[in-house]
Amino acid sequence: MLDIRDATVYYPSGVQGVDNLNLHVDDGEFCFITGASGSGKSTLSKLITGELQPDVGTVRVNGYNMSALDSKTMAEARRTIGMVFQDFRLITSMTVEENLEFAMRCIGVSRNMEERIARVLSIVHLEGKEYRYPSELSGGEQQRVAIARAIINRPRLVIADEPTGNLDPKLAEEIIKIFVDINGIENTTVIVITH
Ligand code: ADP
Ligand code: MG
Repeated sequence: MLDIRDATVYYPSGVQGVDNLNLHVDDGEFCFITGASGSGKSTLSKLITGELQPDVGTVRVNGYNMSALDSKTMAEARRTIGMVFQDFRLITSMTVEENLEFAMRCIGVSRNMEERIARVLSIVHLEGKEYRYPSELSGGEQQRVAIARAIINRPRLVIADEPTGNLDPKLAEEIIKIFVDINGIENTTVIVITH
């Protein structure tokens, strides 16, 4: 669940990132956020992930008040959120499987990893690509690995900031279908930002 009330963000330069933003997304919803470049979409995404705190207002994600958390609780809150970026952000020195394992180990999971990895690779239609390095995959495939990583720890909410920005329209459509599947199969709340 996401609930943003009257949120305003000022960057150090004085520019307003978002101005008095209100947004509520219930558990299990699929939500598109669209807007022109510079309208504050990435600022909104960073508010959701806790990378930015509002100067005014409140941001609640999955029961956590993101503007009033100590670092331990922030880490806990972030485990309930999966993130996908325009530029994939995979670890290039690791294979697909290693990227996914690493994400699990980061939160202390070391059991039944193989089973979960097979499951998420099947959701993103990348069966058999476990041992590839990111450089051996197309852009669309790399983004699907990034999506697999975002959901591997079963987050309650997935936020994707322009996940199809680097992809052609056909691949973009495939990526959006995968998000729709994730929303349905894993019952994850999904927020996709796109211009
Ligand atoms: P979008 O993702 O919709 O393109 P952003 O959230 O990135 O929009 O930007 C919203 C506004 O905040 C814009 O005016 C942008 O120039 C400004 N902005 C974004 N990031 C920063 C930053 N790190 N420092 C200063 N201004 C920023
Ligand atoms: Mg942006």
